[in-house]
Amino acid sequence: MENAIKIIPLGGFDKIGMNMTLIEYGDSIIAIDCGASFPPNNLPGIAASVPDISYIRDKLDRFKGIILTHGHEDHIGAIPYLIKEIKAPIYGTPLTIELVESRLRSFGIKGVKTKAIRFGNTIVVGCFKIEFVRANHSIPDCAMLAINTPCGMIVNTGDFKFDLSAPSCERTDIDRLSYLGIKGVLAVLSDSTNAIREGSSRSEQDVMAQLDRFLDVYKKNRLIITSFASNMFRIRQILWLGKKYNRKVALDGDLMLDIFSISKKLGYIDVPEDILVDVSQIDDYRDEELIILTTGKHGESVQCMTGIVSEMHPHISIKEKDVVLFSSVPIQGNELEFNSLLNRLEELGVTVEFEDIHATGHACAQELKLLYSLLRPKYVIPAHGEYRYRRAARNIARYVGINEQNIFMIKNGDIVEMTPDSCQVTGEIKLDEILIDGNEKSKVDSEVLKCRRQMYESGVVIIEMCIDKATGRYASDLKITSRGFAEGEKYDALYKKLESLALGELSRFINQGVIDERAGRGIAAVAEKFIKNEINKSPIVVVNLLEVML
Ligand SMILES: [Zn+2]
Repeated sequence: MENAIKIIPLGGFDKIGMNMTLIEYGDSIIAIDCGASFPPNNLPGIAASVPDISYIRDKLDRFKGIILTHGHEDHIGAIPYLIKEIKAPIYGTPLTIELVESRLRSFGIKGVKTKAIRFGNTIVVGCFKIEFVRANHSIPDCAMLAINTPCGMIVNTGDFKFDLSAPSCERTDIDRLSYLGIKGVLAVLSDSTNAIREGSSRSEQDVMAQLDRFLDVYKKNRLIITSFASNMFRIRQILWLGKKYNRKVALDGDLMLDIFSISKKLGYIDVPEDILVDVSQIDDYRDEELIILTTGKHGESVQCMTGIVSEMHPHISIKEKDVVLFSSVPIQGNELEFNSLLNRLEELGVTVEFEDIHATGHACAQELKLLYSLLRPKYVIPAHGEYRYRRAARNIARYVGINEQNIFMIKNGDIVEMTPDSCQVTGEIKLDEILIDGNEKSKVDSEVLKCRRQMYESGVVIIEMCIDKATGRYASDLKITSRGFAEGEKYDALYKKLESLALGELSRFINQGVIDERAGRGIAAVAEKFIKNEINKSPIVVVNLLEVML
């Protein structure tokens, strides 16, 4: 369509995480967020998946910048992997930018242009004017983005909720949303994470009140509290409660300490004097004098407590009569592990509490009604979440009077074209799954992953054969070793057959005058086929042809 604005999600629409949406008009392209997601557990060695940016690869001269809504991993986590290629400035609120810079430093990436923007300020990026509107979520400094485009205003909510009892400087800016609604909003891309939950999200004030009750009840016990690493609101509550109940607080977890020190530097968290103690010093305090606040490597609760229970933590070990407060929920897919952790803790004599001490960071149905009512958009695109969550958001938008024809259920890769008078999906780009190796911090191609899966499922067989360099003939006994593959007497016959098969193949190659890696690959292929036929397994077969001087 001529003079239409294009909206293209590269992630964040089909499954949780990996949020990144392109907005394109004329010679300007921007990306909203650049997040990673946790891959499924069955991908060995894979740390994250990141968006496929093939679409912009030949348009980088028009790519003007990455605009961030907030500092969660699923909104900033892909930056270190993609920024070298994209080479564009990054804009976000002060905490978000500090978190990005900290991440870039840890990857040794220099020279990236970043700019911290305060709420209410507007930046011009390409042909877009973008205002950062304050939003409340589970990390400070969250922004909704009001993007003024040549076709009209598009609001991307990022992650948000309306916590009306949060301090006023942290509440979602209802006045501004109302003002934008009066001025006219063409489209809203809105957080659908909690659209299937009726009512409103729990307030942090309620969580505080419940934590206060638990501290009162368990006056004599040592308290271990788990929280998401980035939830500075929760950390602030624990510090206040520590002061109230005269307990020291030990913070545990690199990610939590990192975000905590940045938040402190920016003035987002007040720390009562003499309240913090290093986690290595906890044995210097009596049980009733201490709160340990801990988080996992990815800021997650199950993983860190599992480590403590398994006595793998260098400083924290469970004591009978400890009280563990789960002030965070297990991330999706960890429910079984959480259940077995609860069993284990209770076996150890620990009291576990998790009722009403967690608050979601995402708007529930009632809050989405408020959002749509304030903004009164012409078009709604439910974002962030699987289909049924987005469908629930669609129903809510319909309920508050948005025309059904104007609500778009799109998927990652869809090209939405929008003008002041029309909106439609006009095409689709094919997106690949881009996976990141945990150790190398680099992309993994599908062939490497296929090999890892194969080794994971069936093991590896190594065949070593020596060739006399002088004569080019076979020189000594061949050696077969295996790891993670069929072992024991039962398989001796199989190895014997494999040996004669490999020797036969080697002779064939030698007779053809081929004794380089082509012979190795050929023998491996025949061996793999043979093993598959014999025992229906598919190990990786590696053939080492060694040339020796006799
Ligand atoms: Zn978030």
